[in-house]
Amino acid sequence: MSEGPAPTLGPRPLVLSARVLAGAPRIRHGFSTRAHAGGGSGVAAGVDFDLRQRAEDPAGSTRNRALFTAAMGLAGAPLVTLGQTHEARIFEIDDAAGLPDEPPSGFDAVITDVPRIAIAIGTADCLPVLIADPSRGAVGAVHAGWRSAALGLPALTVRRMGERYGSRPDELVVALGPAIGPCCFEVGEEVISGLAARSPEPERWVVRAARRKPHVDLALATRLALEAEGVRADAIERVAGCTRCDAARFFSFRREGAATGRQLSAIGAVEAGTAMGATSPASSASSTSE
Ligand SMILES: [Zn+2]
Repeated sequence: MSEGPAPTLGPRPLVLSARVLAGAPRIRHGFSTRAHAGGGSGVAAGVDFDLRQRAEDPAGSTRNRALFTAAMGLAGAPLVTLGQTHEARIFEIDDAAGLPDEPPSGFDAVITDVPRIAIAIGTADCLPVLIADPSRGAVGAVHAGWRSAALGLPALTVRRMGERYGSRPDELVVALGPAIGPCCFEVGEEVISGLAARSPEPERWVVRAARRKPHVDLALATRLALEAEGVRADAIERVAGCTRCDAARFFSFRREGAATGRQLSAIGAVEAGTAMGATSPASSASSTSE
């Protein structure tokens, strides 16, 4: 949990954004990268901007998280992460006073309509999905590794936002963050059959070639599952970049193993009537749509 004013010293993180969310009223969001521009405290630019809560460096971890929430437009807001376990349960935040002290375990998605809370997913190859209902100020964040995707978690989260907040799928905007791409996501047949239970048209997101195992485009499979749930195709944007290919910007589990750092993908809302972009990220870079 990070609360209080944004730190003034420390590395300035490079934070990516999606146009569909950057242009949405009331919504603040950002996808962290490992890259940072250094800072006024003598920190040189580097590729070590890690957003794990590291037991060996609690102060540095808290500082990095505060720098990230400031960069994504919610300076000083609490940052809620999950004890992600590749399942399909959704953590619901109804009250700013009742936030968990520790990341709640057994949850891979989180939703809220309470303003000025940054809800976040940690990844290092899995697909982070950020969902916004701008008119109701409701947001969701989903950890879509293949297991959770095969359990239907992205679509289940859209459905739950409808039950809880009255969100209509065709009014939602969704950004699919940096993840392992179809260039690198080699899988077994059990992954394909699992995902195919939730995502139509596997011939579009499975890449087969002679003498190698199949590869999967997890972001496209997730897009098609969300479109099948009623989200408009033009309201879904994929942030470009493969976490495994691009070591200058992303941590990758497949490239670096379990000890690699983590990106955070976070979203939150502000009160109705707050000026557009009043606290939009200063160091953001626009993404490329697919
Ligand atoms: Zn790749």
